Amino acid sequence: HAADVVILGAGPAGLVLGNLLLAAGVDCVILERATRAQLTARSRAGFLAANTVRVLDRHGLAEGLRRHGKEHAVCEFRTEDGRFRLDYGGLGLGERHTVYPQHLLVADLLTHYQQAGGQIRFGTEAQAVADIGTSRPRVTVRESGGREETWQARYVAGCDGRHGAARRSLPPGSFRHHRHDHGISWLGLLAEAPPSLDAVGYAVHPQGFAGHMARTPSVTRYYLQTERGSAAEAWSEERIWAELELRMRATEHGPLHRGPIVQRAVVDLESDVLEPLRHGSLILAGDAASLLSPSAAKGANLAVLEAELLAEALVADLMHGDGGGLATYSERCLRYIWRAQEFSNWMVRLLHTTPGHDAGAPFQDALRRSRLDSLRTSRSHQDWFAEHYVGV
Ligand code: FAD
Repeated sequence: HAADVVILGAGPAGLVLGNLLLAAGVDCVILERATRAQLTARSRAGFLAANTVRVLDRHGLAEGLRRHGKEHAVCEFRTEDGRFRLDYGGLGLGERHTVYPQHLLVADLLTHYQQAGGQIRFGTEAQAVADIGTSRPRVTVRESGGREETWQARYVAGCDGRHGAARRSLPPGSFRHHRHDHGISWLGLLAEAPPSLDAVGYAVHPQGFAGHMARTPSVTRYYLQTERGSAAEAWSEERIWAELELRMRATEHGPLHRGPIVQRAVVDLESDVLEPLRHGSLILAGDAASLLSPSAAKGANLAVLEAELLAEALVADLMHGDGGGLATYSERCLRYIWRAQEFSNWMVRLLHTTPGHDAGAPFQDALRRSRLDSLRTSRSHQDWFAEHYVGV
């Protein structure tokens, strides 16, 4: 098998890239480990930045989110010092989020790609990418039936996430792997219940962080900070709701709308960046390039931004013989990546109390309270927050 560009992974990065290459007439194929049903049922992100919507709009990929997405621009902090709201749509650059579940966006992108005649192989797991130092890289894959095959390409786009084959195929010593474990874990929950407030809710509590994010009128995502290593199943539904109500101070600020918990998973808050993003004919985008802690909801947004930059660079090279975009792709993406990492890291420190056994805990906690106080009272701090919160 052969294609000019072989794309590994059909997440937001791979599918945006595939759609853009296809529209420009580039011969490409997407290889995806999951089945179509698994791919379009995986509920993850929901908050799309204004720039993400602009990118998707520009390429005619925003129809579904324009029709069904909801604009969102308010967040509410609940802390030991009371509660305050930030109408971030009226601050900073005046930009808003569009709330549209990632699995619906993935389904839209997939439909668009296939209707345009795009090639995709489901149930096809990339094992390794070889010969990346040449202009004929090869991808070995294993199909769900166990059959092994090889794809030959001019370029391979590694959009297969953090545990994909692209990362594993990088020659040791050819990249820097910046890694940070925040030492914090969240129990991510999806409740079949309407949102309980008309804002993103961030609750800082001595028992730990709790978060509230609308997904649709009947589905809400919640997060609960948990002990590292604790199992998602250890939490009964009653305990989950009691803990959410406690941390979100429901008796003070109003009850939560309860409903069945339909999905739960523990997420360890970790961040990493691989530098550079290009290794000869293998180029990384999305979570394969950099993992962001979910604290600031940036991952899917960066994936879309990088996919557009990569598509432009590949089209220029393959259609017009201009390799300039590919030569600067890594450097341009890394500027956005580090800005997003910096903001996500700031959010982690804003939202979590420091464990009591840490000797520096009281000092760190006082800093966190002061940070929140500044955000509550300083207009310039609020503008800064809004610009980075919605921006990428
Ligand atoms: P992915 O979406 O992970 O796609 C990679 C694809 O590659 C997958 O389909 C996978 O099956 C496939 N694959 C993996 N290995 C192979 C292989 N060897 N061969 C072939 N295919 C392979 N981000 C936001 O911007 N906003 C949010 O609100 C937000 N909330 C989140 C909530 C949670 C609970 C989680 C876990 C993440 C959240 N994120 C959010 C992050 C966001 O979901 C990711 O950053 C985003 O999915 C990255 O897109 P991607 O295309 O790079 O990777």
